[in-house]
Amino acid sequence: MSSADHRTTTSSAVVVAVDGTSGSGKSSTSRGVAARLGLRYLDTGAMYRAMTWWMLEHAVDVHDASAVAAHAGEPKVVSGTDPEHPTITLDGVDVSAEIRTEVVNASVSPVSAVPAIRARLLEVQRATIAEALDGPGIVVEGRDIGSVVWPEAQVKLYVTADPEARAARRALEEGGSDADQVKASLEARDQIDSTRTASPLMMAEGAVHLDTTPYTLDEVIDRVVALVESAKAGT
Ligand code: C5P
Repeated sequence: MSSADHRTTTSSAVVVAVDGTSGSGKSSTSRGVAARLGLRYLDTGAMYRAMTWWMLEHAVDVHDASAVAAHAGEPKVVSGTDPEHPTITLDGVDVSAEIRTEVVNASVSPVSAVPAIRARLLEVQRATIAEALDGPGIVVEGRDIGSVVWPEAQVKLYVTADPEARAARRALEEGGSDADQVKASLEARDQIDSTRTASPLMMAEGAVHLDTTPYTLDEVIDRVVALVESAKAGT
């Protein structure tokens, strides 16, 4: 199926759109839900990160929107959709480690705000989702999945957590980084992501708000699995 006719699918496959703030637990939740339900998994943040890494590697000024737009068509970003082993390649090279560096954290939001970058990745994202509809479905995480990428998703979540909890979790994941610095970096990204003109981070119409602060990962996964199962039972 082409990305253009994605709205007309009659498949019973499920699309779960997981949007939310940086470090809120979206990735672990999305992967856990996909693994439990046998669904594919797409990390759209990794795609924006790979684009950003390419710009940095090619000495493109990430704060110059027209320079970024001029190169938007060049990188080839491919995402593997196995929730147990998600992969991301850039021009055929695995960049999973490179895209998690501080320099990418600091540059990804300005790159993601460029409409030409979003248009390029939107096409790939819709094609990936359309392909997964031939199977049981897919969990897709990002900032604009329920609002722009796939508004007809059967389950839409808006995941948040308190800033302190987010920073502490992310600092732990990053092997003991300074929690205050991590918090400043997460908040800076959220500020740009939610105030940009192109597809800002927002709670999509029909989304369920999940504040993960007081819950363990397993509890959050249980809750989302229950939401997906009840949505499927209702279709
Ligand atoms: O999810 P993650 O924190 O890896 O996303 C990195 C960045 O990619 C976000 O801060 C945001 O700027 C951008 N992004 C986006 N739209 C998405 C997913 C991520 O703009 N759907």
